[in-house]
Amino acid sequence: MTPLSGTPTVDLLVTGAAELLTCAGDAADLIGRIPGGGVAVDAGRIVAVGDVTGYIGRQTLDATGMVVMPGFVDCHTHVVFGGDRASEYVANAAGQQPPADASVGIVGTMADTRSKTVDQLVDDAAARIHEMIDAGTTTLESKTGYGLDSAAEARLLEVNARLAELLPARIISTYLGAHATAPGRDPKDWTVDILNQLPGVARQGAVFNDVYCDDGYFSLAQSRSILEEGARQGVRAKIHLDAYSHTGAASLAADLGAVSADHLNFTTDAELRELAAAGVTGVYMPCLEFAVNHPAPLDPHRLYKAGMDVALATDVCPGAWTTSMQLAIAMGCRTGGMSIAQAVRAATYGGACALDLQAETGSLVPGLAADLQVLDVPSHKHLAYRLGRNSTQTVVIGGAVIKAPAMKSAIGAGVE
Ligand SMILES: [Zn+2]
Repeated sequence: MTPLSGTPTVDLLVTGAAELLTCAGDAADLIGRIPGGGVAVDAGRIVAVGDVTGYIGRQTLDATGMVVMPGFVDCHTHVVFGGDRASEYVANAAGQQPPADASVGIVGTMADTRSKTVDQLVDDAAARIHEMIDAGTTTLESKTGYGLDSAAEARLLEVNARLAELLPARIISTYLGAHATAPGRDPKDWTVDILNQLPGVARQGAVFNDVYCDDGYFSLAQSRSILEEGARQGVRAKIHLDAYSHTGAASLAADLGAVSADHLNFTTDAELRELAAAGVTGVYMPCLEFAVNHPAPLDPHRLYKAGMDVALATDVCPGAWTTSMQLAIAMGCRTGGMSIAQAVRAATYGGACALDLQAETGSLVPGLAADLQVLDVPSHKHLAYRLGRNSTQTVVIGGAVIKAPAMKSAIGAGVE
């Protein structure tokens, strides 16, 4: 962008990067790679990308030799929960039965979640979200779903609202009453309660309404009634579908114009084309598949072949505890065979599409929120290559520097 007159001063200037990735929706190479590119930020928004030598920054971030890219958008998380399932996880990995007193499955987490106060749940989730921000995530979705009665689900919506207020990340709240059914209850009865709760969830901050449609969870008819009622109440559909069986819910997602369809392991190619035609983003969660040793891992190339937009997400939950989108990229590449450009785009622009936020975040494009990160590696390829490392050195959300390297004197020094 050429300044109109003189040398404009902006709030923040990021300069000297080895490469800048815009991850713009229309980028021909998928990631909009600009060697040597910079970013100019003012009033929380991006004002220029690429050549920013015509700007003066009140604050300057020196990204010499590093990568500048959008913050990650983690579009599918169950980050609010009580307790942990470490005993179940390690027993399962070793082919053993978990100890009798171990917390097991969604039902175990439900009990641990119900036993905690709202304050405790906020503290527990905030610790995980701080890890996410530290590893470059600037926007995340947070689902309810471990309360499994109306009162407990309402408390989880309150937790989401408190987290959004307390933490610098953008936090999008999703109501997932239809995650499972509490022991001793019939999914039919619980569905009636969910339908009765839906008129209030938008007032409690929910933006999306999600259903777990699969064998043993919620039927296609139950899922339809819940998602249609949500649409009437102003909370748009997201769907967990076909993770462990073929349900036919892909057509439902296409019909309803769901913002995303997540898992898709048993979805047919014809159904994937239907989803693509309806503009539904497909969400791929390789870390979850790894953690549960999934019997039929998704081939993300099937989504691309069908013409879908693809998002990567952590699916952080008690059964797959990772807060790192960098690990999701590494696993998407090695276990899913994604190209690094596909994976980086899916972790930024794709995630934003899965939350209908692509006009606000997920790309470095003038006009969008200044949500970005600096990686202390010479190329974005290291995101796939350095397994288990956190390469995020600096995090900026809405123009505010949230994470800065302790030793770099250039940070915060300003050059006014
Ligand atoms: Zn999920």
